[in-house]
Amino acid sequence: MPRAEVPIKEVKVRAYRIPTDAPEADGTFAWERTTLVVAEVTAGGVTGLGYTYSSIAVVPLIASTLAPIVMHEDAFAIPRIWNAMVAQVRNIGSRGVAASAIAAIDVALWDLKARLLGISLTQLFGMARDSVPVYGSGGFTTYSDERLREQFGSWVHENGCRFVKMKIGSNPGEDRRRMEAAREAIGAAALMIDANGAFDRKDGLLFAELGAELGVIWFEEPVSSDDLEGLRLLRDRAPPPVEIAAGEYGYDSFYFKRMMDAGAVDVVQADATRCCGYTGFLKAAALADAQPMALSAHTAPALHLPVCCAAPRLRHVEWFHDHVRIEQMLFDGAPVLRNGTIRPDLSQPGHGLTFRHADAEQFAA
Ligand SMILES: [Mg+2]
Repeated sequence: MPRAEVPIKEVKVRAYRIPTDAPEADGTFAWERTTLVVAEVTAGGVTGLGYTYSSIAVVPLIASTLAPIVMHEDAFAIPRIWNAMVAQVRNIGSRGVAASAIAAIDVALWDLKARLLGISLTQLFGMARDSVPVYGSGGFTTYSDERLREQFGSWVHENGCRFVKMKIGSNPGEDRRRMEAAREAIGAAALMIDANGAFDRKDGLLFAELGAELGVIWFEEPVSSDDLEGLRLLRDRAPPPVEIAAGEYGYDSFYFKRMMDAGAVDVVQADATRCCGYTGFLKAAALADAQPMALSAHTAPALHLPVCCAAPRLRHVEWFHDHVRIEQMLFDGAPVLRNGTIRPDLSQPGHGLTFRHADAEQFAA
């Protein structure tokens, strides 16, 4: 039965700062906590849940700039609301914090729509697959070799992961030893490396060659992801089986299109918590499909699961240590890793996640 518009009655947003379980670092950054921003949008007596891993600056941005234009809109008019949000941040810069704020609201709107319809979001998007392969992602440069082996060994031997990814680049003199330790711990599973833009082109090439020697299949951001020419050079020069990947700082379709047009990567990454939500992720997925090019989802596996089931050329989603820990701690319904894949629960409405407000209160920012 057709239904009338369902006006949005409430938009809520809060930030939480969750300490990591150990000091963490990659090739260019170190951190000891993760900021989670949770947005809730209510219409028709139903609440949709969205979130992003970003800055606490997302909270006042949503409250002052986005919530007023989302309020009273029809909950089913997601493209109209999305366009209005993007237009609303034009003068402050639509990328970075603003795109993450839009992402949190957009995810909440999609969850809300599926819940209003009483179906799972995975079914609402439409399923190209009913489960999604993950790659275990951690191996921080702050880890001892023992911790690195333990983390990777457990993903591969206990959880059936076929791929694992480690960070390199903060102390390149140690990386060969660390990569060899990882290689040894994972047996026949595939090794991936991520330099987070730490290298210049020549050192990137050296590590691509070392990677090929150790059977590395994926080299992420060997140079800055803004250096499209450098990525392209490394893509051309990296010996097989090394593929070049980037895209985690993509906040809009133009970014992904530029990266693809430059021939900069073999696999493009997209992050729905940054690229303006599920709506932006689906746009990136359509571009990758047309290229054609494989797509990999960056972090936040619980949030990405429904849209990863829909994306045509999806290869995998990143089972990122910090986010997995937070999603399992604070969200009921977070997916469980079995045989290296995660699977949506189609009996649950929306994305199937419920935020545990009381448990999160201790982390409120
Ligand atoms: Mg990365």
